[in-house]
Amino acid sequence: VSLLDGLGSVRDIVLGLFPHRAATGLVPIGSPGPDAPVLLTGNYTLTVRRMKKALAGFDAWLLVANSKGINVWCAAGGGHLTHHDVISVIRTSGIETRVEHRDIVLPQLAATGVEPKIVTERTGWQSRWGPARLEDLPAFLERGQRVRKTDRFMHFPLRERLGVAAMWGVPMLAVAASLLAWLGGWRVSVSSVPCVLTLVAGPFVALPWLGLGPQARRRFVSLALFATAGIGVGVGTLALLSALTPASSAEMTAVGLILAALLSVDIAGTTPWYPSTINTGRNPATIELVEDRCTGSAECVLVCPRDVLAMSGRRRKVEIRRPRQCIQCGACIVQCPEDALRFRYRSGEVVEAPTIRRTRMNMVGRRTIVVPE
Ligand code: SF4
Repeated sequence: VSLLDGLGSVRDIVLGLFPHRAATGLVPIGSPGPDAPVLLTGNYTLTVRRMKKALAGFDAWLLVANSKGINVWCAAGGGHLTHHDVISVIRTSGIETRVEHRDIVLPQLAATGVEPKIVTERTGWQSRWGPARLEDLPAFLERGQRVRKTDRFMHFPLRERLGVAAMWGVPMLAVAASLLAWLGGWRVSVSSVPCVLTLVAGPFVALPWLGLGPQARRRFVSLALFATAGIGVGVGTLALLSALTPASSAEMTAVGLILAALLSVDIAGTTPWYPSTINTGRNPATIELVEDRCTGSAECVLVCPRDVLAMSGRRRKVEIRRPRQCIQCGACIVQCPEDALRFRYRSGEVVEAPTIRRTRMNMVGRRTIVVPE
């Protein structure tokens, strides 16, 4: 990684702290002609900029749909990027006068919100899913718009996990350090730095290694682990500073209060730490296949970002091969033409596809639903 790449990442992380909406509409990349591919994304500034970077060297049309300034995955999951937004940008951007074909590449992570069948019915445009990660777009285009199996799965590499942690940690650090400086002086303020950073970064960094069984226990164990580490590092720093000049009990109390407040950040369930808000309390939901309805179209397999589903060659039906990897994004349920997938709560209630399509009940929206008796 070059110094410039590193600086670019720092810049992206800082800009990520202030998300705002990019202009919607048509963006030419290179010198696109009437046969150039058309790709769609949402109008989160960072996404649009990264799309342009990923597509540098290609001639293509980029359609920026109104995702309300939110990244594609969260927008689709929260009901902020749907087929209505795709249809709207196709009709209003002028793309239909610029190209001779009617093919559009949709981001796979929009599958929770966008139903391609409705786009085709209303516009005549045929869609295909692009790769899950925009870094794979160049290879996707070079292969003639074919997605490799591995391009469908989402990973959360260390660099990105640290980036997200920094987006959470920097503002909290600023607030905590200022408050502590006011309450307890500079020693407490300095001590809060390792506490905050450890508490925020720890869970993100450790995500892949924390497959410790049921989600509630996993959350509790990992939070307790990092809380202990954060408190240990912070108190150790404070002790070191206090060895130079004695710390007051008020300072120690202030540290405790701030740490408790910080712990509540993730408990609030606002980070990717939580698979989905449908997994509420002690009544988590799991993905379920109604075998009689499955006709083996495999539309669900093509949009699952976690490699949960696969085709069973012998039976010509889909199988739920890795249920524990499911993050309840709902993409497979929305895309199944036969409504053969659904969520089942531990208590036995089920949430069928029409409800999922209507409510888009996960990530950003923080929605829960009442399951009919
Ligand atoms: S199986 Fe789970 S992770 Fe995969 S698409 Fe369906 S809900 Fe999302």
